[in-house]
Amino acid sequence: MALIRLPGLIDAHVHLREPGYEHKEDFGSGTAAALAGGVTVMLDMPNTQPPTGTPEQFFTKVQLAQAKALCDVGIFVGATTTALDAYLPVAAAACGLKIYVSDTFGSLRIEELSLLHRFFRGWAERGDALGYRSAANPTGIGPIAVHAEELMVPVCLALSHLYAVPLHIVHVTRRSEIELICRAKERGYPVTCEVTPHHLFLTTEDAARLGTLGDMRPRLAPPDDVAAMWEHMAVFDIFATDHAPHTFAEKGIGVPVAPPNPPPGVPGVETMLPLLLTAVHEGRLTIDDIVERCVAGPQRVYGIPAQPDTWIEVEVDTPYTLRNEAMLTRVGWTPFAGQEVFGRVERVILRGREVFADGKILAAPATGRVLFQETN
Ligand SMILES: [Zn+2]
Repeated sequence: MALIRLPGLIDAHVHLREPGYEHKEDFGSGTAAALAGGVTVMLDMPNTQPPTGTPEQFFTKVQLAQAKALCDVGIFVGATTTALDAYLPVAAAACGLKIYVSDTFGSLRIEELSLLHRFFRGWAERGDALGYRSAANPTGIGPIAVHAEELMVPVCLALSHLYAVPLHIVHVTRRSEIELICRAKERGYPVTCEVTPHHLFLTTEDAARLGTLGDMRPRLAPPDDVAAMWEHMAVFDIFATDHAPHTFAEKGIGVPVAPPNPPPGVPGVETMLPLLLTAVHEGRLTIDDIVERCVAGPQRVYGIPAQPDTWIEVEVDTPYTLRNEAMLTRVGWTPFAGQEVFGRVERVILRGREVFADGKILAAPATGRVLFQETN
């Protein structure tokens, strides 16, 4: 039995659902699931109810997270068609700006060039004034993160290039998309990108078996596109889960009448590390690949400081089966249920305190901190 020690992981793309959808998840349950998955920092997306589009909505969310979070959390602001760029005064207190330009859960989709232009120009003006966040400039602003699929990828690459704004393209799934991002990086564009475990380990061939439990945005991709993610592994800066819980009932499982439009999205924060370590076991990844994309990459892209005296201990030699019943996410399921994996998180130490051990959460509420608040 071999125990390895890794830094606490960063999951740079999660939906903790609070406020508005606490029956799916909240800052308490979502950060408990994080610790069980070896994650000690999460970056939370803005498509809550209400969305995180104004300073008031942003600070409401900060207070909720400060009261409940068991690990550290960064909060995104989001571009909306109703509040427009009202978030600009709190830009430096957010981990970044999220813009949805493709189909998603919620109502934040932006489809007009005039709006996109406004959002990129406004963020660039803040960036010109404050700089972009890095170890050398901890009070700058973060990148623009986009959910962009298909033709919206080159649109966002062009806007980022024209305004010299750091652009992070979340959950890439298609060969054409990663090839374009690769080309943009070679040409010196300020672009970074991420891939989710479900888009690395599931394809359209799993979709029929999984039904609504395998439905997310972007959808699972055909095997050739998934192969392209692995071929271009060196292009990816970040592994992030897009942890997006919905209940079994909302997914139409165990209810007499199937809902007409089951929401897209699947939980993932508890299964990322075992899935990646299983790929290490199979020789498809290295431990360094994981640390680079779950720690160093997110630190670099979002300017996240290292957590002192923080590490996780993971048993990597004994296989076990992922089970819905073992999940701490409020919705209690994973699309990987039944799969045999390697890599069980045994212990999590956050700032010198044991916060998770032997399957049990030991952290008290408010153990976690909200990132980037000292700038205000
Ligand atoms: Zn997402």
